[in-house]
Parts: sequence; C-alpha cells; structure tokens
Amino acid sequence: MSQKRIIQIEKDILSHNDDFAGRNRAWATEHGVFALNLVSSPGSGKTTLLCRTAEALKGRYPMAVIEGDQQTSFDADRIRATGIPAIQVNTGKGCHLDAHMVESAIAKLGVADDSVLFIENVGNLVCPAAFDLGEAYKVAILSVTEGEDKPLKYPDMFHAASMMILNKTDLLPHTDFDVARCIEFAKRVNPEIVVIQLSARTGEGFDAWLAWINEGRRRMVAQRIAQLEAKLAAAKASLETR
Ligand code: MG
Ligand code: ZN
Repeated sequence: MSQKRIIQIEKDILSHNDDFAGRNRAWATEHGVFALNLVSSPGSGKTTLLCRTAEALKGRYPMAVIEGDQQTSFDADRIRATGIPAIQVNTGKGCHLDAHMVESAIAKLGVADDSVLFIENVGNLVCPAAFDLGEAYKVAILSVTEGEDKPLKYPDMFHAASMMILNKTDLLPHTDFDVARCIEFAKRVNPEIVVIQLSARTGEGFDAWLAWINEGRRRMVAQRIAQLEAKLAAAKASLETR
C-alpha cells in the first residue's frame, strides 16, 4: 500500500470517529452529563484515582464509568465494588477507545441525567490523543514514578489535554521527579493546561480535583436547563402566535 493511501485511510477513520464523537457530545449536552476522558501510560493510577473519586462523590450526584482495556474486566470490577455503575470495553488488539465504542457503552450502561461520566482510556499516551470521544475534557495523568519529560516526549497528548494530574505525590520523597520542571514542560506544549498534584492513595490534594469536577458538572447542568428553557420559550411563542 502506498503512503498516500495509508494517510487517506487514517483520515477517513478519524473523520468517521469525529461523527460519532459529535453525537456523543450532543447527547451529553442534552442530558447534562459531564464526561471526562482519562488518558495516561499504563500504571499511572487511573483506576485508583477513579475509585477514590467515586467514594468521595458517592451520594452527591450520579456517576458512571466506562473502562477501556485490551483484556480483562479487573478495572470495571474495582469500580463496581465502590457502588458506581461501570462497564468494561475490551479493545483486544486495539490500543485506544473510539467514539463508537463509547456510544455503545453509554447505551448499555444507562447513564442518568446530570451525571459525571468518567471514561478511562486504554493506557497509551499516543493515539488516544487523536480520538475524540465526545468528552468535555481530556485529563492526562502522570505519576511521579515516571519521567518528568513525558509532556515533551508525547506533546500531542499534553496539547490535547485540558488538565494534567500529577499522581502519587506521596512517593515524591523517594524519587528524583522534578515537579517544577515537569509543569514547565507541560506548559511549553500547552500554556493553558491546568495542573493538579495529588495522591490517589492518601487523598492529599484531592479537594482541588473534586472542586474542578463539581464546577464542570455545574456548567453542564446549567447548559441543560438553559436548553430546556429555550425549548419552553419557543413552544410558548408558537402557542401565542396561533
Ligand atoms: Mg486502569
Ligand atoms: Zn490506538
């Protein structure tokens, strides 16, 4: 196959994906669902982060989790143990979730209105950057046991993410990880990126993360109410002109 043909196929796949992503985003807006796409290398602590988040926010508002892994349902089992609905999507040989998989998972899960929907992507800092799932934001998680130069090594991902979480801060005394340098690298590829430092194991730094989720969800709910009010106003106007 020629290089040109390969590039064309990749473009077609991404444009097809974007159609599904657009539908997912419209669905989320209509239902007041705040959807986050969590991306990282394997082992950064995404599932532990989600378990503690689920425990902290349980009872305040509905949540749901889509777990992406090549094999096993270990992560979905861990989430369900917290009492939050979760569905496992196995990608087999695939190395990322796509928007169509997310659309099917949402339909199977039955996500409540005004929920927070967490989508834990397959551990991979490369192609999930290119696949829009219809999320409000991508959140990149980097643990302090990894290299602080990852934002420069995987610039597409840190450019696409709205937030970088530096996880496992409880381990900082045992590593050579330079937090200031890492943040400087992340801002170099994405000056707008929001950075939160936390430990999903001890809970330190969690308040800022939970506050950010609350604020994002509040905006989605406000948007849903505004849409409903606009529909109501249009219906009233059409009645009055009869
Ligand atoms: Mg996981
Ligand atoms: Zn992939």
